[in-house]
Amino acid sequence: MNNEGNFSMKKAFEADTGRVLNIVINSLYSEKEIFLRELISNSSDALDKRRFLSLTDKNDNVGTDDLKIEIQASKKDSTLIIKDNGVGMSKEELEKSLGTIAKSGTTEFLAELEKNSGKDKKKKDVNLIGQFGVGFYSAFMVADKVEVVSKGVGQTKANKWESDGISGYEISEANKEEVGTEITLHIKKSEKEYLDKERIGFITRKYSDHLMYSVNFIDGKNEPELLNKASAIWTREKKDISAEQYEEFYKQIGAGFNKPLLTLHNKVEGTLSYINLLFIPDSRPFDLFQMDVKSKIKLYSNRVLITDDSESILPRWLRFVKGIVDTSDVDLNVSREMLQHNVTLNKISKALKKRVINELKKMKDKDQEKYSSFWNEFGIVLKEGIYEDFDLKTELLELSKFQSMNGDKLVFLSDYIEKMNTEQKDIYYLAAENKEMAEGSPHLEVFKKKKLDVLFLTDPIDTFWLSMAGEFQDRKFVSITKGDIDLTAFSDDKKEKEKKPPAGMKGLVEKIKEILGENVQDVKVSTKLVDSACCLVAPDTGMDVQMERIMKIQNKDFKGMPRILEINPDHNIIKKLNKIKDTDKDALNDASFLLFDQAKMVEGELPNDIAKFNQRMSKFLGIALS
Ligand code: ADP
Ligand code: MG
Repeated sequence: MNNEGNFSMKKAFEADTGRVLNIVINSLYSEKEIFLRELISNSSDALDKRRFLSLTDKNDNVGTDDLKIEIQASKKDSTLIIKDNGVGMSKEELEKSLGTIAKSGTTEFLAELEKNSGKDKKKKDVNLIGQFGVGFYSAFMVADKVEVVSKGVGQTKANKWESDGISGYEISEANKEEVGTEITLHIKKSEKEYLDKERIGFITRKYSDHLMYSVNFIDGKNEPELLNKASAIWTREKKDISAEQYEEFYKQIGAGFNKPLLTLHNKVEGTLSYINLLFIPDSRPFDLFQMDVKSKIKLYSNRVLITDDSESILPRWLRFVKGIVDTSDVDLNVSREMLQHNVTLNKISKALKKRVINELKKMKDKDQEKYSSFWNEFGIVLKEGIYEDFDLKTELLELSKFQSMNGDKLVFLSDYIEKMNTEQKDIYYLAAENKEMAEGSPHLEVFKKKKLDVLFLTDPIDTFWLSMAGEFQDRKFVSITKGDIDLTAFSDDKKEKEKKPPAGMKGLVEKIKEILGENVQDVKVSTKLVDSACCLVAPDTGMDVQMERIMKIQNKDFKGMPRILEINPDHNIIKKLNKIKDTDKDALNDASFLLFDQAKMVEGELPNDIAKFNQRMSKFLGIALS
């Protein structure tokens, strides 16, 4: 029971919440002022939600002009109050929203924070706070006690949540007439500057000038004073908005922290009418590769927020794009479930995808350095689109960069094609786990010798789109680890052109095949190997080696198809084996397996039977050293 006689309950923070809180409070002293941005942006979100309700639900009809935020400061009591008449929270919501940081990614957040060190540490920490949506807790940077009194729309009772930010929190019944939320910060002695009207005005303008709602300052003595412009920035003309203003808005909506890499602000009128203000951030958010992360564009209908959780505006492969879309063509009353199937939205979505692609194209042509930095951050996500949005395959392939055998720099497909041998028709690629693995592949030997470049496709997503994309500008993608590739056309050497596989190898090939049995589909004499004794090739009809590996990772039972072992007839080992094939059965047997296991290992796989591999290896070493 608290002293008003109401039922109240005390609860400890969840373990992770406590840890996060501790970090928030103690390691962010360089930019404490952001607490105000976080609280104001929460109020703005709550006002957005109420505005939507009042326009769609007859039970709550608050006028748009009445929706507002107030800040009250009392130096006498050392309190700062942030008050809004947004949707408010019920008791359960208070507990759920403020009692836990029940967000996915909390663990990653902690790991990330603990990892960071050095000069940029603080900056990074502040950036992370916003990313993880622990915004509200930033209040504890400046307050030693926080009280949140809130009343939800349609509720008769209000509740109070209070906490010192250390041990836990307490919820009790409270008195509040109006729907909305009132947050009282008991400002720490050391942080009195945040009771100062000038300071508050400055911070509000800095971060929240373009909020749609007015923020008034009230000190009880003077008239309320409007602190911000209160006009939705996207509705204004481009020419009236400065780079700094875009940047502030970008930060305010949590799109990023430094400067946006690209800002797309367009007003479209005609059969479709909408405004988009989209940003591509300059660096990856922490959760870019989390499975459940979707694109999150805020969708407004005439400045009323409909949803900020819709995949219907941009696809997942553009999830790095942040911002807002405002259209009068979508009815407010459309249910959120139906947004996916909304014809107008689908059209807008299509247009936006094209727009983003076009802007990236422009950047690619105009500013290579900038494009490179974009590609390094988000290229791997953009490539998902080749697979997911097949219509856009060509445009996306044009924007894609790849590693290649002939250099350290990433290349566009157009670069590759431009430098192709005049006789070359196909795009050669090697899919591998990473560049180092690719470089060690025996499959490359003949390409090096013939001076043909090979693309290294090292992202897991590559194997997926490759299985569908097939070609680019009428050039087929050909895996060099698959089937027979005829390279005789590229030889200047007449003798080589006429060279036939040496006849004397037939017996050896057959014997090795018999020894390896079902481990291989076939054994062949290679026309491609130069330095290595052997390699494994996927059959023409089979899966690319790397694709098979990915399948194996995803499905433990996946066996894959046996591959073809190619042997190099010019290699010393093979020549020697050919000599002893009829006289030393044991040696041939062991050597065949050793060669096969070697070929597997160079593809990044383990020998079939590690114990046997070891035995054979020791045996051979013993002989070699004796
Ligand atoms: P985020 O804003 O990223 O969700 P916060 O920590 O800033 O994370 O806020 C947590 C949650 O608390 C919000 O999602 C919202 O549900 C609730 N909340 C915070 N402030 C308010 C407010 N003024 N009015 C209504 N709900 C609020
Ligand atoms: Mg927030």
